[in-house]
Amino acid sequence: MKIAFIGLGNMGGGMAANLVKAGHEVRAFDLSEPALAAAREAGCQTFGTAREACATAEAVVSMLPNGQIVKKVYWDEVIGHAPEGAILLDCSTIDVATAREVISVTEQHGYEMVDAPVSGGIAAAAGGTLTFMVGGSDEAFARAKPILDAMGKAVIHAGGPGNGQAAKICNNMLLAIHMIGTCEAFAMAEKLGLDPQTFYDISSVSSGQCWSMTSYCPVPGVGPVTPADNDYQGGFAAGLMLKDLRLAMEAAQNAGATVALGEHAKAIYEAFAKDNAGTDFSGIIRSL
Ligand code: NAD
Repeated sequence: MKIAFIGLGNMGGGMAANLVKAGHEVRAFDLSEPALAAAREAGCQTFGTAREACATAEAVVSMLPNGQIVKKVYWDEVIGHAPEGAILLDCSTIDVATAREVISVTEQHGYEMVDAPVSGGIAAAAGGTLTFMVGGSDEAFARAKPILDAMGKAVIHAGGPGNGQAAKICNNMLLAIHMIGTCEAFAMAEKLGLDPQTFYDISSVSSGQCWSMTSYCPVPGVGPVTPADNDYQGGFAAGLMLKDLRLAMEAAQNAGATVALGEHAKAIYEAFAKDNAGTDFSGIIRSL
């Protein structure tokens, strides 16, 4: 397929390269020249504007920083420039309301569109092992799935427009809460005189077990190798977790959902990210 790809950053660069590997003709655009150079290296054709990249494309994939930028790119560069009937896939993490608005407007202009945010970081984007949570009609999902399959290990239909973003922010709110809980438990165990490895051996096979403990342990040298073993570098930056928590709190307010622990987690990451936005989110243990 001819696929336009807009936003070739940490995530999009690897994703576009995987579309090339799967045999697609990728028409790439980013505002950054180094990102364009890397995309050419990976076998993409690059263009001076997003609208040129979209011309003649059967599909458009975007991986952009936030909802405002997504809206601007679709309004100014995609609608009326990508051929009518093209399938549009926004993989950025953005707020649910904007995702629904963009899908509704593009559909009014004769396109089909899904929101398809991802779980998995830069390594999963490069390795083609992302999980995609997809919102959109059955028809749009069926068209988007083979494209997403080339970039991920799991592609799950979450329901109608915006439901991919809803799944993503609910998941990440839960992740923030159990990471903070895991860090508090390790810090308190140590203060009570328990060796962290011993606490891990007990809790990882007891009812306190969770993903933050057994797959992403925040204590160096305990459990599998994680960013904690690399001085909390790499992995999922605290600043990005804070972005997702802000989106989650906005969505909770709009939906009238009670999220007391989500609010508290946001406040804790807000304080931590002030000086540690680039630190892995498990580094929160250092603030305890
Ligand atoms: P990034 O900042 O590395 O990449 C964003 C890219 O978009 C940049 O190269 C930038 O130049 C480009 N861009 C900005 N405005 C543009 C425009 N108008 N036209 C074309 N290109 C434009 O960010 P990232 O880490 O790749 O994240 C992208 C999205 O993926 C975000 O929504 C983020 O929340 C989400 N995400 C990131 C991770 C992660 O671990 N990095 C994990 C899951 C989801």
